[in-house]
Amino acid sequence: MSWQIDVGLEVHVELNTASKIFCSCSTAFGAGPNSLCCPVCTGHPGALPVFNKKVLEYAVRTGLALGCEIADITFFDRKNYFYPDQPRGYQISQLYATVCRGGGLEIDGPGGSRLIPLIELHMEDDAGKLVYGENGELYIDYNRSGVPLLEIVTAPELHSDWEVSAFLEELIGVLRAIGVSDCRMQEGSMRVDVNLSVRRKGESLGTRTEMKNLSSLRSVRQAIRYESKRQIEILESGGNIENETRRWDEDRGISLPMRAKEEKEDYRYFPDPDLPPVKISRELLETQRGLIPELPRAKRRRYMRDFMLPEQDCRTLTADISVAKLFEETVSLGIPPLEASKWICGDYLRLMKEGAGEHMTAEKLARIITMVSEGMLTRANGRQVLEALFYTQGDPDKYAEEKGLFRIDDRNAVEKAVREIMENFPVQVEECRAGKQKLMDFLMGQVMRKLEGRGDPSLIMSLLNNAIFQDKQ
Ligand SMILES: [Zn+2]
Repeated sequence: MSWQIDVGLEVHVELNTASKIFCSCSTAFGAGPNSLCCPVCTGHPGALPVFNKKVLEYAVRTGLALGCEIADITFFDRKNYFYPDQPRGYQISQLYATVCRGGGLEIDGPGGSRLIPLIELHMEDDAGKLVYGENGELYIDYNRSGVPLLEIVTAPELHSDWEVSAFLEELIGVLRAIGVSDCRMQEGSMRVDVNLSVRRKGESLGTRTEMKNLSSLRSVRQAIRYESKRQIEILESGGNIENETRRWDEDRGISLPMRAKEEKEDYRYFPDPDLPPVKISRELLETQRGLIPELPRAKRRRYMRDFMLPEQDCRTLTADISVAKLFEETVSLGIPPLEASKWICGDYLRLMKEGAGEHMTAEKLARIITMVSEGMLTRANGRQVLEALFYTQGDPDKYAEEKGLFRIDDRNAVEKAVREIMENFPVQVEECRAGKQKLMDFLMGQVMRKLEGRGDPSLIMSLLNNAIFQDKQ
């Protein structure tokens, strides 16, 4: 019997506005516990929320980038529940008039591209954070309380772990490109709820379970594999799937029942009387539309078409807008695209990931690549220049000059080194003459070492060959 997996996602994205959604407290990450709160974001009775317009702008920009229909008027609803991280007794969210509806995001896979439809985007406030002490005591940090969230809800039309992964990667790319969130899953600025059900091919949608707050792409993939297998096993042995919320235990790699799934009615949603409806003007819409740059997928396809680069290179180059910019500028300075891509996807990104200061401009990078391709520097020395100038300001030519990195093409100097090595290793030279080809590499290495890595390999090879084989005859 063949099974189909149906996954719908609720992606919670922290918007990177400077202040919270309903008060002016800072949204900075990593400050001392409870240092960034006020009566509004800690839910004191009588404290009145005031909507941060930046949140609306970011939500609308996201909606436009994802092809959603943007509401003319949107308002907030109270989602009632009690939990210590939500002292107000309700979350301020949206149900009846969400900011955006519909839309979709196209993903590319081995079977071609596919549009994953979205149901809606809504704005809400984040809750505080529970922190467990060493002896099991419970603390609550309200700094995160009131940080603006955008929840992106997809239709249950993702059908495998890799498809979900591809969707999330594409989404992260879009959100970063339009500048609304940094989507750092490890810092919790993006969290994913996975709604999953399985059905036999041809049947209607099965009963779903929900796994909450997955915080890495890896756990999302693992959770989908585990949960679909669990559900299929239950159904194949004649059981039923409970409609429930489950917790994903990352350490053990299993999902555990948490509570019966609440329905919308359980939250007794109603419009928040403290917050008036918000009208979305044409002007705001057009301003936000104008702030959307070329999106990663379009950029990727343009790179594949115009620069004839492999898809993986295009993905790597377009994943970060600053990297894409450096690549395009380097190419515009006359560096062949494939060459620029090799340097950027390799050494440049490695250095960037190490996280040090960055002083590399397209001009410098182009100069280093040119010096290597014209033979002034060996590839290894070119890499050394790149590394050095990545950390400090400086000029590639000056640096190479000062460090004595330029290639030695003075024939006399190379000949002298070859002679010295022949004298120092007479046994190896003899064995090489007798046919031990491997020793040629050894002797070559010794000459290169003598020249401090700056010799021209083809010149060394030809002089060494002459010296060993022809001079003798
Ligand atoms: Zn506050």
